[in-house]
Amino acid sequence: MTSTDAPAPAAPGGRRAVFVDRDGTLNPDLHYLSDAARVEVFRGVGEGVRLLREHGYLVICVTNQSGVERGFYTDADVVAIHERIERLLAPSGAAIDRFYYCPHAPETHCRCRKPGTELFERAARDFGIEFAASAIVGDRSLDVEAGERLGLLTALVPPPGHEAEAAAELRERQSVPDFVAPSFRAAALHILHRG
Ligand SMILES: [Mg+2]
Ligand SMILES: [Zn+2]
Repeated sequence: MTSTDAPAPAAPGGRRAVFVDRDGTLNPDLHYLSDAARVEVFRGVGEGVRLLREHGYLVICVTNQSGVERGFYTDADVVAIHERIERLLAPSGAAIDRFYYCPHAPETHCRCRKPGTELFERAARDFGIEFAASAIVGDRSLDVEAGERLGLLTALVPPPGHEAEAAAELRERQSVPDFVAPSFRAAALHILHRG
């Protein structure tokens, strides 16, 4: 697709956004990663993000970072990783409009840890986003569940090599994404082509 293709219909009441998960979606999940220099983005993510933004979507990253509360890394480490992701996306002409993260461990029972919806609601207030015109792309059931609660179009992109694991988790959690895509880029194209 090129930027000359027809954009999706505009949201009547607010801006359209694609919420994206971070670990396992934008970048390989290295589990409690604290060293920004080790972060890479998946191939095609830059192009997918660029296409979404060219077609009028905000691209907002919402990520669970319980390693902060667990003491594995600091808020500054998280911010450094987000800056690294931005630098890696820039050569593709892509950018993330804003990163939101939950620093809490599950035991804290906060409302911002996905599948909790607080960070999405905060983003919606910050940017004037209409959920019904928006989507989420993630690699885990909790991303799909958050999207279901908000009425987002839900896309699952299993990380390469983890397709069976992703399918098993969805079955166990009884969560059903609107579609499964083989790559972030494919998910972006699907979102842009939806009726
Ligand atoms: Mg993930
Ligand atoms: Zn939280």
